[in-house]
Amino acid sequence: MQPIVLTHGGAGGPSADAPEPPNARSEWAAACQHAAQAGLAALVAASSDQSLAAVIAAAIILEDDPRFNAGTGANLRLDGSLELDASLATSDGRFAAVACLRATKNPVLVARAVMNTPHILLCGEGATRFARQQGFPEAAMVTEKALKRWKAARERLQSGNLRPYEERWRDMQFHGTIGAVARAPDGTFAVSCSTGGTSMMLPGRIGDTPIWGAGVFAGEHGAVCATGHGELCIKRMGAFSVYQRMAAGADAQEAIEAEVKAFPHPFEVGFIAVGKTSHGMAATDDYMPRGAAS
Ligand code: ASP
Repeated sequence: MQPIVLTHGGAGGPSADAPEPPNARSEWAAACQHAAQAGLAALVAASSDQSLAAVIAAAIILEDDPRFNAGTGANLRLDGSLELDASLATSDGRFAAVACLRATKNPVLVARAVMNTPHILLCGEGATRFARQQGFPEAAMVTEKALKRWKAARERLQSGNLRPYEERWRDMQFHGTIGAVARAPDGTFAVSCSTGGTSMMLPGRIGDTPIWGAGVFAGEHGAVCATGHGELCIKRMGAFSVYQRMAAGADAQEAIEAEVKAFPHPFEVGFIAVGKTSHGMAATDDYMPRGAAS
C-alpha cells in the first residue's frame, strides 16, 4: 500500500480579536505540510508500528508550533488555566487519550504512554501526575497570543457582548487544533489529535479530541481525525460517522464532505481521513490549514 500522511491545523475562521496576519493561511498550510513530511519520514524510518510513528511525529511538530491551538500556544480556560486534550488510535484497535492535562509540552506523547497502561483515558490531576511519573517535566506553555485571546474572550463574557455562536459559551473561534492520519505500506492506519480546546470554556471541559469515535477513529477501513465544535462532534460521533461512510464504500473525500454538510450550521467542523485507496480533507467553508505527504 502507498504510504501517506495527512495533517490539519484546525477548523474555524479568523476571529475579530485575533485578526489574520498577512500570509497567515499559506504559512499555516506550510507548517502542516512540513509536519506531514516529517510524519512520512518517521513512517519510513520506523521498523514497526509505522503509521503510529508517523502520526506522533507529525503531531509533535504541530504541538510545538505556537501558532496552533495544541501543546505550546494552546487556548486558556476562562480562569486563565491551560488544559490540554490529546489522543491516538490505531487500526488494530488501540486507543489512548489524555484530557485536561496541565503544563506538559507534548500531550500526544503522554497519550502514547497511556497506551502502555490498562487504561484508555486519563484526565486532570491524575493525567498530569501520570505525565510527571513518566518523565514529562512541567513546562511553561502560555504564549502572548493565547493570553490575548483569553483576555478578549473574558471581556466579551463580562460585557455580555457575545457573538451569536457564543450562546451557552460555545465559541467557534478555536482555530488551530492539530491532527494527523497515516496509512502505512503494511495496510495499518493511525490517527493523532491534540488541542487546547475552544476559546471560551470552563476548566474541566472536555471536547471531542480525546473521545473515541468523536475526535478520532481508526479501524480496518481507515483512520479519521476531526476538528471543530467539540460538543457537537461528540454528539454526532463525528470521526465515526465519517468512518462508517467509508466502511459503507464511500471514498474518504466523499465521506468527509457528507459529514461536513450534515453538521448543523453555524458550527464549524473539519476532518482528515485516509482509507485503503483514498484520502480526503475538508472543513466548513473549507477553512482548515492542511498538509499531505506520500
Ligand atoms: N474540537 C476541539 C475541541 O472542541 C477544538 C478544535 O478542533 O479546534 O476541543
